[in-house]
Amino acid sequence: MSLERPPEAASGEREDGASETAILTIDLDALIANYRRLRDLASPAECAAVVKADAYGLGMALAAPALSRAGCKTFFVATLGEARALRALLPDAAIYVFAGLMPGTAELYRAHDLRPVLNSAEEIGEWASFCAMRGEKLACAVHIDSGMNRLGLSADEVDRMAHARDLWQAVTLSLVMSHLACADEPTHPKSEAQRKAFDRLRAKLPMALASLANSAGILLGRAYAYDLVRPGIALYGGKPARQSDHHFHPVVHLKGRILQVRKVAEGETVGYGATHTMKRPSRVAIVSVGYADGFFRSLSTKDGQEGLVVYIGSHTAPILGRVSMDLITIDVSLVPEELSRRGAWVELIGPNVSAQAMAHHAGTIDYEILTNLGRRALRRYVGG
Ligand SMILES: *Cc1c(COP(=O)(O)O)cnc(C)c1O
Repeated sequence: MSLERPPEAASGEREDGASETAILTIDLDALIANYRRLRDLASPAECAAVVKADAYGLGMALAAPALSRAGCKTFFVATLGEARALRALLPDAAIYVFAGLMPGTAELYRAHDLRPVLNSAEEIGEWASFCAMRGEKLACAVHIDSGMNRLGLSADEVDRMAHARDLWQAVTLSLVMSHLACADEPTHPKSEAQRKAFDRLRAKLPMALASLANSAGILLGRAYAYDLVRPGIALYGGKPARQSDHHFHPVVHLKGRILQVRKVAEGETVGYGATHTMKRPSRVAIVSVGYADGFFRSLSTKDGQEGLVVYIGSHTAPILGRVSMDLITIDVSLVPEELSRRGAWVELIGPNVSAQAMAHHAGTIDYEILTNLGRRALRRYVGG
């Protein structure tokens, strides 16, 4: 187990951290189990790992080395800054940068042995000139847009680049990739259309390893795995596809602490804006986590609305009223008093409350929940 804060902050504490008011536990064994599961699903394709946005908010500094020890050799990040931080952690990994080549950054890529994912003919031209100037055939990936209209070469650009033999001879094309727009809807016809477009377009470029699938793409089956898969969310315990029964191990556990318990009479209101009126005399608990910890304000409830339900042991406690910066209020009327006292811990994300369920109530996706986990809670890494 390792703690991100100085060890003295935890010394003399019980396992549950007596002085803490919120603990975010990141289970590296669960991360590794998810990696192995994805690798088996995609086999014999290579399973890379997407660790952008600080490993989806979980902490790249510990997540990436754990994945590397589990056998992962290829990593993807979004930005050059992330790539440099990752290079310091993993001297030998292949590291690709989705953002591609910003003008004037080629030397930084070379100096840190990083691979740009080139998104346009212009970027390919710049990388090839740089390689020619240095006299080194440096590795790069090319991103083909197969129908998402986000990053990548258009079909016209692929046609133009098909004959640019000099440019291709100056570089090492180590990967050709594309990205699926609707893989999270397993029956969406767009995925197959994109797969066909990807095949048609990549055939015009020099031979290279191919990659199409993110987490949800892996679940679409072997035809989508090609040579290398690029999972992110499933590694971190998210749910990649809407209708799938694939469950990955939860990696994140967030718990907050009861600061105060009070009795609220029927007809009284709770919290900012007085949005929740008690329908019966109740016991409510004030818990030490709020939107500054990544507990979205959109998880607030008002009269007549059913919100997210959190857990104390196996007992349920619904959120009442507004989420504030540092606090939420929950109804503990049905929780035994000895379990819902001042100082008791409340499960806010964990085995009973998935990031997916929280996302559903917050009107977003689990990706956004994970990447917004705050920096205030004590971070505790277990396993790995
Ligand atoms: C973020 C990202 C991934 C990973 O996607 P998940 O849905 O998290 O598995 C893969 N490829 C690209 C291009 C991405 O931007």
